[in-house]
Amino acid sequence: MAHPVVDLRSDTLTRPTTGMLEAIATAEVGDDVYGEDPEVNALEAEVAQLLGHEAGLFCPTGSMSNMLGVRALVPAGQEIICDSLAHIVRAELGGHAVFGQVTTRTWQSSRGQLDADQALGMAVPDAGPYFVSTAAIAIEDTHNFGGGTVQSVDELRRLRAGAAALGLDVHMDGARLWNAHVATGVPLSEYGSFADTVSVCLSKGLGAPVGSLLVASAERIAEARIWRKRMGGGMRQVGVLAAAGRYALKHHVARLADDHARARTIAEALAGVDDSIVEPELVRSNIVASRWPSAAAAQAFIAGCADEGIRVSAVGARVVRLVTHLDIDESGAGRATEALPAIAKQALNV
Ligand SMILES: *Cc1c(COP(=O)(O)O)cnc(C)c1O
Repeated sequence: MAHPVVDLRSDTLTRPTTGMLEAIATAEVGDDVYGEDPEVNALEAEVAQLLGHEAGLFCPTGSMSNMLGVRALVPAGQEIICDSLAHIVRAELGGHAVFGQVTTRTWQSSRGQLDADQALGMAVPDAGPYFVSTAAIAIEDTHNFGGGTVQSVDELRRLRAGAAALGLDVHMDGARLWNAHVATGVPLSEYGSFADTVSVCLSKGLGAPVGSLLVASAERIAEARIWRKRMGGGMRQVGVLAAAGRYALKHHVARLADDHARARTIAEALAGVDDSIVEPELVRSNIVASRWPSAAAAQAFIAGCADEGIRVSAVGARVVRLVTHLDIDESGAGRATEALPAIAKQALNV
């Protein structure tokens, strides 16, 4: 019998577990635009509390949650600065410009790793009548296109203090903040203290089918709630999804450590072939960014994986991403780890 496909393209690919489906089936719901969905209200309060913020807002996607967060901090025509690999500038299709009327400027990073001095050095608050004023700085933890990079807590702390000294706000794209928390053991509330607005996703490694949240002050969330509706994101009996998220928060956070261990094992298997492909000690969460000497080698690797029933995805011409998640169990990860070295060897010979 053919092996089931091992799908390492993304941690968004998870399907709800039996326990999660039960939580969905038994969810008590109401109309959330009326503020009457008990599951949504509970989820918003729980996530706000976890991150040490006053209020939360359930959003259909992380992109919308990021857009609402950035909009809350940056007036039209001003800028938010971030690194050039940030999801908000690479993968949200210009939404911040189209709907938020903000501009961006980026710094170059190594693997998305935050260097607080570099970020603060680029900021120009109150730039006067000729130049764009910086209103906020965006950070991402873990860093997706950087390769699941877990940010240094010292740098986050220094950025926060430096931004405050300049009168600047901070937005955190914490789509995988849960992974950072599990990798470092730093409490979520401490992570929450590093930013004015934080976006987190339930639909990545936590395994919920849909959903992200923005947390911030009560005032900012009240305003974001209006903009969510204006953008078409006011949802109705959405407690069925909030229930999945609440279930995920209870049952799927601690287990992210398994995903991290499996990603490390996969990285070690690739590095065993050639240590220029990936540095395993840098793989601290659930993403392995493998770097290939040429676009042809990267394509050969993707094709070789496909032949073995392993799906991986290109996130740059020479960068192929492998992501572990709830639906990759020990046997799936083991099968990938066994098959990858031979595939990598072939790809390097292209
Ligand atoms: C997935 C992701 C998002 C949000 O993506 P959606 O597909 O809009 O939910 C935001 N930031 C990062 C870093 C992500 O990986």
